[in-house]
Amino acid sequence: RRAAALAAAARPCHMADGTRIEVFANLGSQADAELAITNGAEGSGLLRTEFLFLDRGSAPSVDEQAADYQAIADTLAGRPLIVRLLDVGGDKPAPYLPIPAEENPALGLRGIRVGFAHPQLLEDQIRAILRVQPIGQCRIMIPMIAGVDELRRVREVLDRVRAELGITEKVELGVMVETPAAAVTADLLAAEADFLSVGTNDLTQYALAMDRGNASVASAIDGLHPAVLRLIADTCRGAASKGRWTGVCGGLASDPLAVPILIGLGVTELSSTAAMVPEIKALVSGLTLDAVRAHAQAALACATAADVRALAREFTA
Ligand code: PEP
Ligand code: MG
Repeated sequence: RRAAALAAAARPCHMADGTRIEVFANLGSQADAELAITNGAEGSGLLRTEFLFLDRGSAPSVDEQAADYQAIADTLAGRPLIVRLLDVGGDKPAPYLPIPAEENPALGLRGIRVGFAHPQLLEDQIRAILRVQPIGQCRIMIPMIAGVDELRRVREVLDRVRAELGITEKVELGVMVETPAAAVTADLLAAEADFLSVGTNDLTQYALAMDRGNASVASAIDGLHPAVLRLIADTCRGAASKGRWTGVCGGLASDPLAVPILIGLGVTELSSTAAMVPEIKALVSGLTLDAVRAHAQAALACATAADVRALAREFTA
């Protein structure tokens, strides 16, 4: 019976009208990967690699990283694994990567900027990801992108290490859309990236200029704010104009009220928490593209996040 349940859970997700939507899971550990598979995730849209780097005295070696990525890739048994390059700094400090005290850590040295400040760290991580077999199961995703120049710098490193390792297979390189800059220039990024994935946690923080770690504004931070939805709409339009897909790996992908809107805006991959995968798959399979597109247009016209939530509750009821 367990085998039958697993097989049913593992089926690819389609909307009621047959539209394919990939339902992936966010991972931050080997245990997450196991839960994701049990719950029918079709892959991982975000492996937060920080778990390997934090709470230790020095950076993990290439061998160590490669072994950990390989174990997770093996657990996913061939399903896509989107590995995010290290996203430390600001809220997530690592003792061996001294980041000078900053007045605005959220606007300082963090995400891929740390990788550029520590080029060996960036290169080692890319080398470790490229060692995972089969080549291509792992895709690489860049956090905190603010412009195409940053994507080009990472691609240079990727191409150099690929050449060194004699890898001829394609290894996809995508960007996270977490800054308003990335959202409004999604067409420029999509011209050079293989995919875009919206990090709605940071995108909301930066769009609303509200620190996600600050308790006094936390209750006002809502990813369903019309400003955030419009940025996601820009992202999907820009990506589609260059034939690229848009996913969501931030918290909105785990929010049943948000999911119909996201798909209606053009999102085709949702990476939720591993625990939420069954619920998100069931929800998506009951939706039609026509209905969610109309719903998303209505959401874009709402004045406030509270209005969007009220509309979404009505839609789901
Ligand atoms: C996000 O910002 O939405 C995201 C997925 O990244 P993290 O939550 O790890 O910053
Ligand atoms: Mg983020």
